[in-house]
Amino acid sequence: MTDAIRLLILDDDPLTGQTITNIATLAGVDARYTDDPLEFFRLIKEMNPDFIALDLVMPRMDGVQVMVELARLRCPADIIISSGVGGRVLDAAARSASEHGLNIVGVLPKPFSPARLRELLSRQPAGSAPALHRPANPDDSESIPAHELADAISRNDITVVYQPKINCRTGLLAGFEVLARWQHPTRGAIGPDRFIPLAEQSGLIDALTESVMLQSLRWYSALPASLGDDVSFDYLRRRLREITLSVNISASSLSHLDLFERLDDYCQSMGIRPERIIFELTETCAMEDPVSSLDILTRLRMKGFHLSIDDFGTGFSSMLQLARLPFSEIKIDKSFVMTAGESKESRTVIKTIIDLGHGLGLYTSAEGIESNETLEYLRSIGCDLAQGYAIARPMTGDAVLTWLRKGRNDDEEHRLQVLHSLNILDTEADERFDRITRLATRLFQVPISLFSLVDSNRQWFKSAVGLDVRETARDISFCTHAIREETILVVNDAHIDPRFRNNDLVTGAPHIRFYAGCPVHADTGIRLGTLCLIDHKPREFSLFQQKLLKHVAQMVENELTADYVAHEDPLTSLLNRRGFDARSIEAIALCHDAGLHACLFLFDLLEFKHFNEQHGPAAGDRALIEFNRLLRDTFRGSDLIARYGDDDFVVLMIDITPPGPEKALARLAAAAELCLSEHPIRHTAGWAMLEDGDSSQQLILRASQSMQLLRNTSMT
Ligand code: C2E
Ligand code: CA
Ligand code: CA
Repeated sequence: MTDAIRLLILDDDPLTGQTITNIATLAGVDARYTDDPLEFFRLIKEMNPDFIALDLVMPRMDGVQVMVELARLRCPADIIISSGVGGRVLDAAARSASEHGLNIVGVLPKPFSPARLRELLSRQPAGSAPALHRPANPDDSESIPAHELADAISRNDITVVYQPKINCRTGLLAGFEVLARWQHPTRGAIGPDRFIPLAEQSGLIDALTESVMLQSLRWYSALPASLGDDVSFDYLRRRLREITLSVNISASSLSHLDLFERLDDYCQSMGIRPERIIFELTETCAMEDPVSSLDILTRLRMKGFHLSIDDFGTGFSSMLQLARLPFSEIKIDKSFVMTAGESKESRTVIKTIIDLGHGLGLYTSAEGIESNETLEYLRSIGCDLAQGYAIARPMTGDAVLTWLRKGRNDDEEHRLQVLHSLNILDTEADERFDRITRLATRLFQVPISLFSLVDSNRQWFKSAVGLDVRETARDISFCTHAIREETILVVNDAHIDPRFRNNDLVTGAPHIRFYAGCPVHADTGIRLGTLCLIDHKPREFSLFQQKLLKHVAQMVENELTADYVAHEDPLTSLLNRRGFDARSIEAIALCHDAGLHACLFLFDLLEFKHFNEQHGPAAGDRALIEFNRLLRDTFRGSDLIARYGDDDFVVLMIDITPPGPEKALARLAAAAELCLSEHPIRHTAGWAMLEDGDSSQQLILRASQSMQLLRNTSMT
């Protein structure tokens, strides 16, 4: 080997590539050219170039992606960008590359001049000058023997950190991603970009994944309890039982069923539902062997685990395979997200991936968000989940606890920030909350019930039953008092309460005499506002009633965090099965606690498949919409109504006793008779009353048995 400067060229245009090679060779440079990205990465390993000349716009991979990959490989070469694209794009690319730690020495615009190329190449080769991106630790360039990694895994030297993931729409915590860390006793910190490939090559990856999973599951299952038993953490403890944990899985583990069986066992033994675990797989990984991937991925999905396609946009996937594999989330690669601020191209890619994901019914997630502007942009285009330094950096388990505890209610500025990031103020009335306030007026027999949010100088009602105003001044609001404490504020008679006696809302409309307000929380336990009850006469409010009110307030809190897009049937805008299941648990718990009667109805449209075949799918859709209208007209605004399957509907009525259910069915039958549809459709019904200890599944089962019974008797 000579000491000549080595130059590697990646360009999709053979003429350009060959020309650069010739000029460089004439200048005594050892130059190689390729137009294939895979070949390019192979050559990097082989020739260890001092310089790389990179075309930005190529058909199979674009320059930004190549740069991301180069950064990941910690490529020490100096980079010359050659491209015909405009200066703005070149600038953005250069910025993105230096953010990734690459060393850009210059730009070679097309058509380029040989003199400019010679000038760039005559600069100090990268190897002789200390560059920013060059590892500070000389050990970094040395390869680490596999046995050191094996020892580290067995000694538990591989530790984990957690990076929060939030819901873009509400800004609320949605989960954490676990990331592995290695603090080597002599070599110092080693990044996962180095030891994960080593683990993969040396057959240690399953052991590593298992160790990462075990550590994080232990931490995760203990998380709610580790907050201690302070009442002000009640809300947060509850939320922490719902959030997700994302774990990275290497391609090479994908065919190892036994690994996943052990992971499943760990979840079961620690009482963690599989629905809370998301396995992240890289796009290329799942596509490597689509057939066996499909097999194992399907099994995991059937157990309830969620699957995410990581680093989406960097691989070479086929859309068809993507749609076939049972993923639930698509995670946009951070190279696009990190450059979204400067690059229109990146924004186009992001928007396209989000539309694609939603089109396939997947959650969309973005990582590498480094600014609030990018976060706001992602929200505006409907991205579901967000992760990045602008939200939080990866943290140790203990640091997460501190982070969770940080935003407390004595910090009014933080409280308002959480409230505003929910993007709920001054929005339209919403059936999800109206159902709950209606339920509250019914359960407590009060004329007014409100879901009120306390803003900087007003209280604003997201939902109001029995009151026409949408907001009142903050200084006279009862709710401002109610959110000062964790407890429910009860004012039995405002006329004799010195705090409220002279209040405008007491002396004038709406003439409040009785008030009970339960704080409604979000985020880490911030009290945003209240669910409150108001009466025009004085009232007692027992401890039992307070407990019930707390239940109803929790329903509001659940709605704030629930994903209503995933919980809604787009055709009828009723709840879908997931939406119903999530809400019926809370509603049934309320009934058991309060000793309320409840009744569950199941409805099945008769021979719907045949109906569709005979009259066409459009008529089928109309029949479903019509039946939805019948249900809404027949049942009460506080009942839970859902489209449970293609042609099944379910209704949960709270606080009802026989013969209420029969009467409701008679009302429905009468309304159906009057229906003037061109192709009327018939239905069958079944119902069951809630019994002691019933779960919603048991209740549904009994209702479906009663439906069978009714159907059989009507046939004989
Ligand atoms: P990844 O799965 O794409 O993980 C996200 C990476 O992005 C993490 O790097 C995280 O620290 C980083 N990141 C998050 N937000 C930002 C941001 O705003 N800006 C920037 N510049 N970076 C951000 P990390 O921890 O170095 O991990 C690198 C990769 O190593 C991961 O990429 C993943 O592929 C792999 N890895 C880490 N832990 C494990 C593991 O336990 N198992 C496997 N198989 N792979 C792992
Ligand atoms: Ca990941
Ligand atoms: Ca990723």
